Amino acid sequence: MKDLHDLVDEVIEQIKRDLSDTGDVTAIVELLLSIPRDDLEAFLPNSCEPKICQTCNGSGEGMHEGTTCPTCKGRGEY
Ligand SMILES: [Zn+2]
Repeated sequence: MKDLHDLVDEVIEQIKRDLSDTGDVTAIVELLLSIPRDDLEAFLPNSCEPKICQTCNGSGEGMHEGTTCPTCKGRGEY
């Protein structure tokens, strides 16, 4: 059985290869989806507070009436 750290190193190398060779992140996304959400959020810096969208200032509305902000897709934050 492999040492867990070696395994993680290999996974990281494979992720780098996927990104540089094919740019295909499908396998990486699937891998990350298997990780508990709390762990994913803990990995990110300052992930606790969602940031207000700068494009629409948090309203979620696009430049014209009745449209949706393209940056945050109408959520007002990201
Ligand atoms: Zn927005």
